[in-house]
Amino acid sequence: MLDSAAKAFFHLLAQSKTLKTLGSRYGMRRRESFARRFIAGEDVQEAIEAARAVEARGLTHTLDLLGESVTTLDGAYDATRQYVDVIAAIEKSGIGRGISLKLTQLGLDVDKATAVDNLRRILEHAEPADFFVRIDMENSPYTDVTLEIFETLWGYGHRRIGVVLQSALYRSEQDVAHVNALGASVRLVKGAYKEPKSVAYQRKADVDAAYLRMAKTLLADGHQPAIATHDVTMIEAVKQWARERNIAADRFEFQMLYGIRRDLQSKLVHDGYRMRVYIPFGREWFPYFMRRLGERPANVLFVARGILGEGD
Ligand SMILES: Cc1cc2nc3c(=O)[nH]c(=O)nc-3n(C[C@H](O)[C@H](O)[C@H](O)COP(=O)(O)OP(=O)(O)OC[C@H]3O[C@@H](n4cnc5c(N)ncnc54)[C@H](O)[C@@H]3O)c2cc1C
Repeated sequence: MLDSAAKAFFHLLAQSKTLKTLGSRYGMRRRESFARRFIAGEDVQEAIEAARAVEARGLTHTLDLLGESVTTLDGAYDATRQYVDVIAAIEKSGIGRGISLKLTQLGLDVDKATAVDNLRRILEHAEPADFFVRIDMENSPYTDVTLEIFETLWGYGHRRIGVVLQSALYRSEQDVAHVNALGASVRLVKGAYKEPKSVAYQRKADVDAAYLRMAKTLLADGHQPAIATHDVTMIEAVKQWARERNIAADRFEFQMLYGIRRDLQSKLVHDGYRMRVYIPFGREWFPYFMRRLGERPANVLFVARGILGEGD
């Protein structure tokens, strides 16, 4: 994990229109273009192809149609329609059925009620077809409202939904206990966003320590929790803790992002653990891509080499 100043720098860059234009021009245009390391493609068929390859390695997946911070109602309806189409395409393809989405993609910044309606519309298509829908967690101004919407839908009886909690936030340990009590599934992550000291740990050691505490609570009291990290230290500690307490490997799953630590993904499956890969795709890939760069300096060199090799 990068220190928070570097993370902030990449978040700033992510807002640059020039960079976005340049990135969009070069990042995905060929099979070997640099953004394809982290993003399966711009359309759903490319994502389905990536998902088939993931399944062939014995792993499962969740597909994420990239998009966030939608600023108009039309944009939110459009994203909702696209998700409904994605669900139909996944059903038709015969691959595993799981999607991840963001509430700001469905209009949360424009009108909360509309975002909820849009999510319910997606669930109307997803649930009868036995999809699992994971609501990604965005930055801390959205934590309360995301959990509130999640809990409202849970209260309406939706059971094929889950939420994400970030160990970087001080509040998350309480949120874990709350979601566990509801009986819902948590994906545990460290947190991808630059957050202020008032709400979040700033030191990696503190984020990691909280991650392990939360992972243990989830393994003990959670419901099909997802341990989402590429951090070998976290993964080994979780495996050991589960072994010592006789927690069977099918009571939880590991999750990783497409294009990151494929070796470790395969090894975990080989060792009898469940592993789900988060497969992002779509035209709105730039902010997601910048978060991945912000997590690891070496990725910037990888991209620079890719750009130099692209030519016009
Ligand atoms: C399935 C999944 C879903 C996620 N959903 C959300 C979400 O909804 N909300 C949210 O805030 N965050 C989400 N994240 C991101 C998460 O919060 C972290 O930012 C990200 O996983 C990096 O943290 P880490 O746990 O891998 O640990 P780190 O300590 O950051 O990294 C550990 C090691 O993993 C490898 N690694 C990590 N990141 C990269 C990278 N970008 N490129 C190459 N190698 C890397 C490196 O080897 C690194 O040393 C998700 C992550 C996963 C795996």
